[in-house]
Parts: sequence; structure tokens; C-alpha cells
Amino acid sequence: MTLAIPHARVSNAADTRVQLAGPASSTHPAGVPSVAGARLTVPLVDGRHVQYANLDHAASAPCLDAVREAVDELLPWYASVHRGAGFASQVSTKVYERAREVVRDFVGARATAEVIFTRNTTDALNLLARAVPAGTSVIVFDTDHHAAILPWRGPNVHRVTPTANVEQDLDEALARTPTGPRLVVVTGAANVTGELWPVARLAAVARRHGARIVLDAAQLAPHRPVDITALDVDYVVLSGHKLYAPFGAGALVGRADWLRAANPYLAGGGATRQVTARAVSWNYGPERHEAGSPNVVGAHALAVACRTLRQHWDAVIAHEEALLDRLRTGLAAIPGVRQLSIFGDSAPRVGVVSFTVEGHDPNLVAAYLSAEHGIGVRDGAFCAHILVRRLTGDRALRASLGLGSTAEHVDRLLTALHRLVEQGTTWDYELVDGRYAPVDDPRELPAFLSN
Ligand code: PLP
Repeated sequence: MTLAIPHARVSNAADTRVQLAGPASSTHPAGVPSVAGARLTVPLVDGRHVQYANLDHAASAPCLDAVREAVDELLPWYASVHRGAGFASQVSTKVYERAREVVRDFVGARATAEVIFTRNTTDALNLLARAVPAGTSVIVFDTDHHAAILPWRGPNVHRVTPTANVEQDLDEALARTPTGPRLVVVTGAANVTGELWPVARLAAVARRHGARIVLDAAQLAPHRPVDITALDVDYVVLSGHKLYAPFGAGALVGRADWLRAANPYLAGGGATRQVTARAVSWNYGPERHEAGSPNVVGAHALAVACRTLRQHWDAVIAHEEALLDRLRTGLAAIPGVRQLSIFGDSAPRVGVVSFTVEGHDPNLVAAYLSAEHGIGVRDGAFCAHILVRRLTGDRALRASLGLGSTAEHVDRLLTALHRLVEQGTTWDYELVDGRYAPVDDPRELPAFLSN
């Protein structure tokens, strides 16, 4: 189906009414670690190529150059972990176990905490959900990502809709739950709005009720230091691919007792101490939940990303805050654009902004930004359906900033949105399998895909 969108001539790129905070730079500020793909160019439907404006860091962040180099350095040494007497196996084992300590330090966990490598945050939360004692009451906010909401099943799960006073919401919810083991799930930074949750204050409420707390740091950890000891949080989960280490590793870090008492998350080699024809005795350390060959490359990549971010927090945060201000101010000046928020416009947040454009389907806008401007954003309900429907009645767009973002990327987005609102799209779009795509899309995929 072709959309009946009138063709409008693209005006000169310099002709924009967006009020910009200053001259846009396409280069990276000093002190901000560089990422792979920073100079990637992508085709547009009109035949031009432009630098890719990746404004989708919240979904998956590009690989840090430091991570790529470290992985390259490791690969010749890559060998079995924990199992081999060969020298390369010993090196790989050392790399893997050292990575645990780096991740432990990155989240400020105590020496007694368990550091378990997982595939990602979803995997880590599912692991914890299997490890909580039978009958544990779980309290989760319904504004969270599905990964935080869905792993907990059964009658003891209590979903809370946050109001402006989330501490009171939690206090009341905990007062209603029976005594016994209780776990509160809190998100560090909302994946839809980027808003920061008052984690330390919620942890204090949980403590008053004798409940434990798990912090979903999937969106927080790439943007801000996390210290679970200072926050008084029991567990933290995160994903390497959001932390500039896209090699398939994530982590669950936290109190060892429930994890050691639980059945292994996966049954198989590596999780066992001894297996006889009649019985199995399981390991007690993190290996208990890490059956199968460990992802040493992913663990190393994650550790290098953690170390790199720790060395550059001041520059990383300053870079992001300047761009976030530019983005939010620019969006506010575009007629019909509405930014989403749970706690209100002035709530502190990381560089993630979701918004709607009045009268424009978010999926069509995302297709237009890609096809005509070389900009990558996310559209839809961002695996947070309850929240996005509550805020929009439907779906939204999300622009998310990170180490690969520049002021030019932000300005290009603002200019493109302005143009859309004033003139519509230049190309025609049609629905293909429920998503908008340019009609007769001439853009070619990179050559390596044709091999
Ligand atoms: N939690 C939050 C806040 C997220 O934003 C995401 C992913 O977007 C997840 C959990 C799930 O992360 P993953 O897909 O890496 O398991």
C-alpha cells in the first residue's frame, strides 16, 4: 500500500527554523571514549550517503574501540575456560575470572557478592526469578521494561503503578504483602523516558519492611556510576550490549545466599562438582548458574567496557548532558512534538527521550528519518507496553544518546522533524508486513551481505 503523502521539495539544509544551542560539531569531544562505527556512512533514498546518526543507544550501544581492540588481543589466546591444562586455557580462565572482579568493582559490590555472567539483563532477571525462595512476594512497577515485569509469576507478584510519590507507593505495597521473603524490583533509569528512579530512597523503604531489592541497571549503567553498596541494593543486573560491549554477556551481581541455595539455572557441565550414576552435587560459587562453556570473550568485553567507562565518567556525563539539553530544548520548539515523562518534565534523566509527533505515525516517522536523513531511532512501545500505552494511548519514538552521539546528529534530527511537520515527507512510504518502508527503496545493503 502506498501512502498518499504529497511530495514536497526538500528545502536547503541550512534553511531551518530549529533554534540550535550553538554550532554543531560532528567530531567527538576530548575525553569521551570512541566507538566503532563513528564514521559509518549510510545511503539515503535520494542516492546520497551521509554519516550515520545513531540515536538508538538505548536499544544497543555501538562497540567501544577499546573493547574491540581488547577482544582482538584476546582472540589468539581464546581457549576453553576452567577445563584445560594448556597455557591458552589458563590465560582464558584468568581473563574470565578477572572479568568478574572488574564487574564487581564497577557496580561497587562487596567481595562476598556473587558475580554471575549471563547473556543479558533479561537472562539475569530470569535467573534471579528462579533463585528466589518459594513463596517470595515480588513487587514490581508496571512502568518497567518487560524484562523486569515478566520473569516473576504467580499469585505473589504485585504490580504497582507509580504516582508522583513512589516511595509511598512502595511503602503501601509492602505493607499489603505478607511477611516472609520479599523482593522489590526497581529500574535505575527508565528505558522509555530516561528518568532516574530514586533507587537509594526506595531501597531504604524496602529495608524498613525487611525486603530485598534488585536494581535493573540496563539503562543506568551506561550513563552513570552504579554503587550497590552505597545504594544499599541487594542485586544488580546489566547488559554488555548496552554498555558498549556487544559480545553476548551480561551480569547478575549480588547477595550469595539465595543464589547458592537455589537449583542451578542451567543444568550441565561446569555447574557440577561431582556426578555419579545416582547423584549430582552442584557447585556453590557463580559456576552453579553458569553451566556450559562460558562466554569468555563477552565477559572480557564487558569488563573492558566497565573499566573504560570508570576512567571517563566525568567526560561521558558532561558530553551526554550537553546533548540531552540540546535535544530536549530543540524538541520542545517543534510544534506538535510531545516529550513523554513519568514523573514530570523536570525529573532528572539520562540521555533517552521518547516523544510523539502529532498526526504522524511513529513508525512512519522512524522510516522517514532513516530513509531521508540517515538517522536511527526506535519506534513502538519499547518493551514497556503498559507505560507507553498509558502515556500515548499507542506508540512513540525514542531518541537515545551515548558515546557515539554528536551535536550534529541531534541537530539533524531536529531539522528533519521540523521539516516533517512543515512539509511532510519527500519520499512515498508503504506498509510492508505492518511496518512502513520507502516505496521502491533504492538503498543497497553493504557488500558483505551479498557473500
Ligand atoms: N531493562 C531495561 C531498563 C531495558 O532498557 C532493557 C532493554 O532495553 C532490558 C531490561 C532488557 O535488556 P536485554 O534486552 O539486554 O536483556
